[in-house]
Amino acid sequence: MNKVLGTLNGIDFTIGLTILELSYLIAALLFVYGLKLLSHPETARRGNLWAAIGMGLAMITTLLFHKNSNGEGIALMNVWVIILFVGVGSVIGWIVARKVKMTAMPQLVSLYNASGGAASMLVALLEYPNAVAGDVASILVTILGLVIGAIAFSGSVIAYGKLDGKVGDIMKPFMTYLNLFLLIITIALSVYLITSSRPPTELVWLLYILTALALIYGIMFVMPIGGADMPVVISLLNALTGVAAAMAGFIYNNQAMILGGILVGAAGMILTILMCNAMNRSLLNVIVGSFGGSSGEGATGVDQTVREILLSDAAVLLSYSQKVYIVPGYGLAVAQAQHLCHELDILLTDKGVEVKYAIHPVAGRMPGHMNVLLAEADVPYEKLMEMDDANEEMSNTDVVIVVGANDVVNPAAEDDPGSPIYGMPIIKVLEAKNIIVMKRSMATGYAAIPNNLFYHPKNRMLFGDAKATLQKLVAEIKSL
Ligand code: NDP
Repeated sequence: MNKVLGTLNGIDFTIGLTILELSYLIAALLFVYGLKLLSHPETARRGNLWAAIGMGLAMITTLLFHKNSNGEGIALMNVWVIILFVGVGSVIGWIVARKVKMTAMPQLVSLYNASGGAASMLVALLEYPNAVAGDVASILVTILGLVIGAIAFSGSVIAYGKLDGKVGDIMKPFMTYLNLFLLIITIALSVYLITSSRPPTELVWLLYILTALALIYGIMFVMPIGGADMPVVISLLNALTGVAAAMAGFIYNNQAMILGGILVGAAGMILTILMCNAMNRSLLNVIVGSFGGSSGEGATGVDQTVREILLSDAAVLLSYSQKVYIVPGYGLAVAQAQHLCHELDILLTDKGVEVKYAIHPVAGRMPGHMNVLLAEADVPYEKLMEMDDANEEMSNTDVVIVVGANDVVNPAAEDDPGSPIYGMPIIKVLEAKNIIVMKRSMATGYAAIPNNLFYHPKNRMLFGDAKATLQKLVAEIKSL
């Protein structure tokens, strides 16, 4: 393995090093291929697997063939320690991923983001003292990895707490200024550490202060972000984790890590922009302004009469419709009603009704949440209509069934300039001829904003857990 095959830019290419570099290239190709497959629900599982194989390959070949600048491989003892911890981590990851409920998936994603950020932060903390004084490039990537990793770590922990209902929104007017102040000192200290000619070993104490500042900033930055803006923040934190991992890759000059990190960073950033567009808000506005939360009283002057519909009437209405749209939301995930939704769809389709699903980009609690749920229930992908396409068809839809959705169908986004969600695009269910909303009570959704749709004369409520209600509805339609 130590036989030199050739020399490039002063580097001796041994067989081992050649295998290592080739494996990184293969891993990179597998990441890109995996990412491509991830873009469609039907192929996403395979995409995940291919990308994981790529990562596994890069890890194994690194353990076998990596050499440090003195030409020494990884000490055997360290190899065993690494294998032990990778094994423990994999077992924990396996158990958690198997046990986690679909509704708690966004929290899990936040925790994974936090782990990625923490790993990059620790790498930077460990490697900073080894940097050569005045080597601006390597100190730059170390500091960036540290700061971005620390922000992604603490921010993701808070995002986890918010999604899990353990942490509330804390928005005080002074927080915007405090955050700006924290950001300025973090940047100033980073610039000092990057440009200082003093040996890094003498500046480690400053590095610890910088770490603390970045951790506090991560907490303070996510803390005030209100209800409906969380999807944007989650994908932004995901992008930050990717960038931090890429920086850690630069520290070790490891192509697999650099590429993996850049792909996550770029994909996360694209998703962030798409989410911002979906909510009709700029990224700056999301980060600086608070949105959602407990504000909003609903438009006044609305007749607050709630009309309910009997199951038998709903069954008849649906069976004799020509076109039905199902609007799924977070409640569908809570109730795990996706299979019953599909059953209702098949039943109605058999009766000659055209059934489609209107998917709002931020429905649920994570990007693509509804697509994943409905794909799991084998709903054909062609039936899932994106918001704009669905909205075009609303006026010739006989019945819209809203299953556990709330904020994404709230007309306040269109007709109440005082509402915190004013301007956010919604599924325009009010344009359909009839609306049936399935939920358990009159409670608000994630953004904690009242919804006047529920009082609209076109709408009728079908109260109860979505799964139980759909079960009864399916039975009722079968008995017609
Ligand atoms: P909402 O959170 O607005 O509403 C969900 C509704 O489901 C609730 O009003 C609840 O009413 C109902 N519900 C809960 N459990 C059940 C059940 N078992 N059966 C029937 N209904 C149930 O969900 P939407 O999907 O409409 O909107 C998503 C919100 O989450 C948006 O504000 C979005 O910004 C935010 N968000 C989205 C993320 C993403 O990436 N997609 C990430 C983080 C937040 P009741 O209690 O009366 O049953």
